[in-house]
Amino acid sequence: MQIHLSDISSSEGMRIQKTAEFGMDTITFQSGSFPVLAKEPIELTITNTGDRNLEIRGTGKITVGIPCDRCLEEVSTEIPLEIERKLDMKLTDEDRVNDLDESSYLTGMDLDVDQLVYLEVLMSWPLKVLCREDCKGICSQCGKNLNDGPCGCVEEPKDPRMAAISDIFSKFKEV
Ligand SMILES: [Zn+2]
Ligand SMILES: [Zn+2]
Repeated sequence: MQIHLSDISSSEGMRIQKTAEFGMDTITFQSGSFPVLAKEPIELTITNTGDRNLEIRGTGKITVGIPCDRCLEEVSTEIPLEIERKLDMKLTDEDRVNDLDESSYLTGMDLDVDQLVYLEVLMSWPLKVLCREDCKGICSQCGKNLNDGPCGCVEEPKDPRMAAISDIFSKFKEV
């Protein structure tokens, strides 16, 4: 969604409110591609604070599927969004070239809401996602998700008598 800013840029003190839909269905960056599972409309307020300066505030929330750090199961992760940006509309696109963030969501007088929200999602991206606090992860030998139960892999027993016992144990586990 694009919002054209020329009216508000030239009217000191003007304030507009918009409800915007986030248009992306996946979030893609260096770490990979993640599906957007749910999104709430973004409530945007744009204020002309004088001297062709605009203040953009927005709140919203999206839910993204991010793999668990330990077991790689997709975890439905809520990302709250608190957007707060200031734009100097006196600057030209050329002036903005140095600000990669700004030039990605503002072209001339057009605000690209998807890009603005996308940047905010990246800034709020969780450092670590776990499906649950005590996630057991995956077995390093067979790759089974250990939250679903033990896999039967055993560390190489050195004592042959122990090996016999662990064989019995793994038979039990398979039942
Ligand atoms: Zn997990
Ligand atoms: Zn295993």
